[in-house]
Amino acid sequence: MNAPLIDPFARRIDYLRVSVTDRCDFRCTYCMAEHMTFLPKKELLTLEELDRLCSAFVRMGVRKLRITGGEPLVRKGIMTFFEGMSRHLGGLLDELTLTTNGSQLERFAQPLADAGVRRINVSLDTLDPEKFRAITRWGSLDKVRRGIAAAQAAGLRIKINTVALKGFNEAELFDLLAWCAAEEMDLTFIEVMPMGDMGEVQRLDQYWPLKDLRARLAERYTLTELSHRTGGPARYVRIEETGQQIGFITPLTHNFCESCNRVRVTCTGELYMCLGQEDMADLRAPLRMSEADAPLEDAIRRAIARKPKGHDFDYSRQAVEGQVTRHMSHTGG
Ligand code: SAM
Ligand code: SF4
Repeated sequence: MNAPLIDPFARRIDYLRVSVTDRCDFRCTYCMAEHMTFLPKKELLTLEELDRLCSAFVRMGVRKLRITGGEPLVRKGIMTFFEGMSRHLGGLLDELTLTTNGSQLERFAQPLADAGVRRINVSLDTLDPEKFRAITRWGSLDKVRRGIAAAQAAGLRIKINTVALKGFNEAELFDLLAWCAAEEMDLTFIEVMPMGDMGEVQRLDQYWPLKDLRARLAERYTLTELSHRTGGPARYVRIEETGQQIGFITPLTHNFCESCNRVRVTCTGELYMCLGQEDMADLRAPLRMSEADAPLEDAIRRAIARKPKGHDFDYSRQAVEGQVTRHMSHTGG
């Protein structure tokens, strides 16, 4: 293995999230505008380039690889990529995983398990089919639930990610909790982030602070703060009455930046050292410049050397400050 990736704040970078497509079969209102213009195919890294890029990071100390998008499972030939990456498992790579909207899981759950995937995140914001269709603009809850069932049958451990949306899923808080408990799935709530232009949808209208959600939980249950952290923006509590662990992702606070161990690569090969900053490094040019990986590795090291200390999101004023212009589907959530 090459020397590990250590940033200027002595944080070891061992977690990489890679977006493999900007496309998606849903149009969640907080994530995408209804009419999105997607990138031409030639802009995207090919599956071979994605393999080279991820393998370079693995050689440089990345131990956990999360594939995301857009919707990763709509990328043509994506299983070839997963099957390729599985060669690193049990060696330099500890975990290969993905974040998905679940729409294609019925088809892909077993092949993913066969490729060594053990845990997946499935994003789901409501258990009401009509509301599901509205928030995703045309998704089918039934299809996603069949996908979840297929994943469970394939032995995949599931974590549900739910974006907390004011006036949308507030009333479903306890139903979502009960459903996850019954299905033996973990549950994490995400605070909505100011990313990309949403067209007519107003970001501040959707914002339901997780401290309010948590207070709502505490009215009914005894919550115990858990100390374990993943290096990411999630904090965890245990609900004593049910034994469930609930995660809270509050990217708008600075409480996680100091332990940040991750970087992100977009589907066009842009390396973002921080989700909330505009600075990035182009890895596609060095990938395409040479069949050897030296230029790529050099570009990665130079980028990590300027990973910033933290982000600048701030909802505290009436306007959304620190907003970044790219969509979550571009950087990969
Ligand atoms: N399509 C896949 C999915 O939905 O799981 C993977 C990509 S999606 C961009 C990753 C995660 O980002 C999802 O859990 C989604 O809910 C979340 N997300 C998207 N836009 C967001 C926003 N503006 N604020 C907070 N979370 C967001
Ligand atoms: Fe697609 Fe995921 Fe964005 Fe929803 S959150 S539009 S499923 S990329």
